[in-house]
Amino acid sequence: MTENSCKLCRELDNWGLEQYDEQMLRDWQGDSGRRKGYRTLAQEFNTMLLRRQMDRAGVSTLANEAASKYERLAGDDEAIARETREVLRREGLPVDELEQSFVSYATVRTHLKDCLNAEYTPTASDGTWTTRSIEIATNQAQKKAETALKSLIADEEVAIGGDPEVDVSVMVTCTECQSRINAERAIRRGYVCRCGETPEDATNRESE
Ligand SMILES: [Zn+2]
Ligand SMILES: [Zn+2]
Repeated sequence: MTENSCKLCRELDNWGLEQYDEQMLRDWQGDSGRRKGYRTLAQEFNTMLLRRQMDRAGVSTLANEAASKYERLAGDDEAIARETREVLRREGLPVDELEQSFVSYATVRTHLKDCLNAEYTPTASDGTWTTRSIEIATNQAQKKAETALKSLIADEEVAIGGDPEVDVSVMVTCTECQSRINAERAIRRGYVCRCGETPEDATNRESE
């Protein structure tokens, strides 16, 4: 273990949840079935904190009560979030403190990669369905485009001096900041853009 410490380290410490690291690592590396991404892990962690506070306040956490409350609290709809916050406050939860404890996906990433020094490197050959399906889609698109172009060239609809060589790459764009990058490159480096980070995430990432 290194001297690194992020917001998630502090929260785990505050809550006496050090054993949570192991579970998070297993989920991230996909040891127990399909792997979970940073966003899912952050959601699960935050939901767990909410559930603990609900238990503590004596509020029912049967079924998916905590998960659905968390969704409403952290969702895009400000009115619903405000209403949920009010309900929880009336039920006796320390809502502000709780929301300050919530972590973002970028914090989870910092924690796994920097604090725990853990690794997960998806490669085109490791057989995971996610990476494989991009590769398959790209190959198919490339073959189809090449066939179509060759036929257009044969019909003299398109002029070319030599043989056509078609390249296909899958591009991903963030609808928030318009960052655009090759999908495989995004997978390799682990992000499309950093625009979803909070200032704290950026500080965590840079203070390494
Ligand atoms: Zn950490
Ligand atoms: Zn972005």
